[in-house]
Amino acid sequence: MKINPPIPSSVRELAAVLSQPKPMRRGSVSERTMKCGKASCPCQQDPTARHGPLFQLDPADGRQDPVPVSQSGTSRAGAGAN
Ligand SMILES: [Zn+2]
Repeated sequence: MKINPPIPSSVRELAAVLSQPKPMRRGSVSERTMKCGKASCPCQQDPTARHGPLFQLDPADGRQDPVPVSQSGTSRAGAGAN
């Protein structure tokens, strides 16, 4: 008779979190760095000195403009915008 090994607590915690679905958006998140408008700023010459990173959601259907995403992973556009 085969005895099942105990389920690790980390797996049980993840299963509990994933069993509570939340609203999701389809698309991919991309990371961008930006140049500012100041001529004297190092970002104008050095690509590694650019500002950011900024994250944006590129909607899967391609019909909507990219949506800024905060560091916490929540969309700034609000949950009701689709
Ligand atoms: Zn700059």
